[in-house]
Amino acid sequence: MSVSGLCQICESRPAQQRCGNCGTLTCLQHYERDKGLCADCAAQAQPSPDRDDVDVHRF
Ligand SMILES: [Zn+2]
Ligand SMILES: [Zn+2]
Repeated sequence: MSVSGLCQICESRPAQQRCGNCGTLTCLQHYERDKGLCADCAAQAQPSPDRDDVDVHRF
């Protein structure tokens, strides 16, 4: 199966992969093969060490 169309992130390279989360077509540059996600989803899915709450601690 080949993916037709352009990468929906950079819109300049031919899409070669599809995000397993949002279905966005991405080029290889914007596809995290390890995670099977597009760059956007991969950035959101990054394991953040308990940083859900925004603690505003200023020193
Ligand atoms: Zn791209
Ligand atoms: Zn995605």
